Amino acid sequence: MTPRSCLIATFDGLRRDRATADLMPNVARFLAGGTDCVNARSVFPSETRVAVTSTITGCAPAAHGLVANQFLHPVAPDRIFQTASNADLSAAAAAGQLIDRRSLGERLAEAGRSMAIVSTASPGATRMMSPRAHALGHPVFSVHGAPVGTEELQRKAEDRLGTIPPAGTPNSARVDHAVDVLTRIVYPDHDPDLAILWLSDPDITSHGFGVTSSETEAAQAACDAAFGRLLEWWEAGNGPENIVVMSDHGQITGSARVDPVADFPDWEGRLVPGALCGLWLEETGPDAIQDAVDRLRDTRWAGLIFASGAEGQRVNGAMPWSAVNQGHPRTPTIGVTLRAAPAGPDGVEQTFFAAGIEPGGGIHGGLTRGELSTVLGARGPAFRQGHRSEVPCWLPDIAPTILSVMGLPVTGTTGRAMIETLAAGGRAPDVERHVETVEHRGHAQHLAWWQVGDGRIVDCGWMEEAGASSGRSKRAEEIA
Ligand SMILES: [Zn+2]
Repeated sequence: MTPRSCLIATFDGLRRDRATADLMPNVARFLAGGTDCVNARSVFPSETRVAVTSTITGCAPAAHGLVANQFLHPVAPDRIFQTASNADLSAAAAAGQLIDRRSLGERLAEAGRSMAIVSTASPGATRMMSPRAHALGHPVFSVHGAPVGTEELQRKAEDRLGTIPPAGTPNSARVDHAVDVLTRIVYPDHDPDLAILWLSDPDITSHGFGVTSSETEAAQAACDAAFGRLLEWWEAGNGPENIVVMSDHGQITGSARVDPVADFPDWEGRLVPGALCGLWLEETGPDAIQDAVDRLRDTRWAGLIFASGAEGQRVNGAMPWSAVNQGHPRTPTIGVTLRAAPAGPDGVEQTFFAAGIEPGGGIHGGLTRGELSTVLGARGPAFRQGHRSEVPCWLPDIAPTILSVMGLPVTGTTGRAMIETLAAGGRAPDVERHVETVEHRGHAQHLAWWQVGDGRIVDCGWMEEAGASSGRSKRAEEIA
């Protein structure tokens, strides 16, 4: 065991309110025994590759520049740049336009420390866990094989554990395989200072069957059992000193499909659909931006709208990109979420969707609390034990916290080292909650956020008809 070493174990797409003792007893036991950050949030858009990049850079999307799962990028001038594709990411990296901030892998390598990755996620998500892992000599295992994974570790895993099981929903065979690779090969052979284990469920299964379906609950149970095996191995004295458990975003229910591109044929090639639709205008004068915001506001499917004028001025009917920690040069001119409704009897919010799921399937990317609330907890000698932390925190806080545990500098991160969760102790920051409202053309968009020390963390966003009483607004806020 390496002093101050850490493992980040991720359950993709796990909502905080679904990580219950009934559904995931090992995760619940872990959280109760260590530090449990009950007000943890994702980034916006709440999409996997944006979340991964924010986690490993310790920065908001405005700073690192991987602004969405898919967007318009100079290296793919005639089509949509896909962050799920390792080839697209390589092209951006070769052009020096992948991310603007250093990753944990680079920081550790500079400090003479080691890192390893074991992932059942997409090629793009796995790549973003340490974009330069190959060059830095960090072993990577991917269920998609090389060149996402590194040749030597992929070969070793196949020799000792057999071929990678086929994908499935639930993806339990691959989840189990990944835990075997981590505990039976990566730690015994490499003993990394930092490792990332990424489990692709419940996200994959929830997309297909729905957030509260029996299939998704089975996926959660299988992930939890695999994590239970990992905990048993760790509690017997193996592996890292500390374990951080997280999810990257939650999921809500996709209720009905919409086709934003078909509604605006004149924006073809410049409107990228998704839970956050991005629009890159050619003409970015104040009138053109205002006209586009007005047209989007009048659709039945538009949720919250974000835009900033060329000189950073406010746009009527939109919140500035900075309100959601966005606004990188690659951020679209205008962004609009798809409209979501409060939670139904199953406790899960509903939303229009424009992606490849069927009605009733799970979806994420927007600003509802179900999408933004994540699991975040930690155990080990570096962290407080049996501690429930209500201080709001989010994915960019994870890297500076781990760097602090390792005794490494946090310079260049925009997140905050959560010193109040550490055994060494530290004062919790001042926290203030705010709700901002913008009304336009009969609609009101609300954004709730916390000021935490010097940083802003978005709690959630929701829509109402304009002029709704403050009483109604308060109720909507509570259920948003
Ligand atoms: Zn995800």
